[in-house]
Amino acid sequence: MSGFVLRNGHIIDPYTGMDGIGDIYVTADGKISGIEPEVDVKRGEKPEVDQHRQHRCASLDVTGCLVTPGLIDCHVHAYEYVTPLGINIDKTCLARGVATVVDAGSAGSSTVPGLLKFIGEASQTRLFCLLHIARHGLADAGCVTCDGGGECDSLSVVDVDACVKTIKANRDKIVGVKVRLARNVCDQGKNEAEVYRRALQASKECSVPLMVHHSISSIPLGEENGLGCPGDLQQGDIYTHCFHGHIDNIVDLDTGRVNPHVWDAKRRGVLFDVGHGQGSFAWHVAEQCASEGFWPDIISTDLHTGSQAGPAYDLVAVMSKMLHLGMPAAEVIRAVTNTPARAIGKDQEIGSLTPGRQADITVLKLEDISQDLEDSCGEMRTLKKAFKPVRMFVSGTEIPVAAGMDWPNLDSVKACKARTAVFRADEIARKK
Ligand SMILES: [Zn+2]
Repeated sequence: MSGFVLRNGHIIDPYTGMDGIGDIYVTADGKISGIEPEVDVKRGEKPEVDQHRQHRCASLDVTGCLVTPGLIDCHVHAYEYVTPLGINIDKTCLARGVATVVDAGSAGSSTVPGLLKFIGEASQTRLFCLLHIARHGLADAGCVTCDGGGECDSLSVVDVDACVKTIKANRDKIVGVKVRLARNVCDQGKNEAEVYRRALQASKECSVPLMVHHSISSIPLGEENGLGCPGDLQQGDIYTHCFHGHIDNIVDLDTGRVNPHVWDAKRRGVLFDVGHGQGSFAWHVAEQCASEGFWPDIISTDLHTGSQAGPAYDLVAVMSKMLHLGMPAAEVIRAVTNTPARAIGKDQEIGSLTPGRQADITVLKLEDISQDLEDSCGEMRTLKKAFKPVRMFVSGTEIPVAAGMDWPNLDSVKACKARTAVFRADEIARKK
């Protein structure tokens, strides 16, 4: 195979600051060799000497397309066949423009060797993972909001030492800790505070981020003298499902505005991640946040068996939702490239088109449409624009792009409405 050049695309690379029309050269061994017009390469990275630019190489015209670093989906469930939530990442992520996924806690210290060997090594998609604080991860756990997972029902499996030891032995692939703070996975809330403390401790001991799922939880957003989430998260930690619509969401019930503890966390560098999933994206919450200029740092899907056929669909669908809310396109791209790469400590390897790196490249079209798209409550908004992947390269190898699912999926909409009714009834009962 000889190298190739992607000609005349609109290159957006938030890491280098490139935002304009140009050509990207890729070598025969799958590395980016140069960009023309020349990028002002920041941060001291030296482009490799371009061997082939003088030679003839295949020319692929991408006029009218956006050319971005291979997209990164920072929250998916990749442990197919082993966990109830696991999906096929090559079909659902890679074929839809995503070069790299981060598995969010499907495996814990006892079960992660299988995730790395049977999924990581067997997939074309790059895989990193966040290690669940529970030793067995999400081996028997479903979506929190539709059935009891209960992975932290017993504190005996919430094992800091095993978590720390496993991370230290797999620094290249395990990039953080994951915990779910929700009443029905922590013995009806009895264990939640202790589970949270142990997850915080494990991440601190390894100096890696903690990703927290925090919904339908007994732990408040923040408190003066007690444990809070995101109140006790530090710079670099990740608050996922940030636009969920349950009663304890980040918009204050009394004021109707983003909770001050959440703003404080954002200011000290806690990263807010969409983590759309089945039950974690409500238009009305995201719209309030958008009206206050509270944008997510990371856009991710939380793709699993219960969200891939709607309401999350795929990463470009979730990106399109953020675009609809008014997030600038270049910021949307940043939230699926440079920021997630930095969050997992891999920004010197992935998430940029810097010459010398592996050529992970996504080519997108930004199409004019008029199409309804549902949220997790089954509420609709009419999108006028959508990202669509058209070409995809990992380490310079072209991956066929698959047609995504048509949305809205009316079965998903119906199911979202039904689940929302159950949650509302439960919330009202709890208040009494
Ligand atoms: Zn998840």
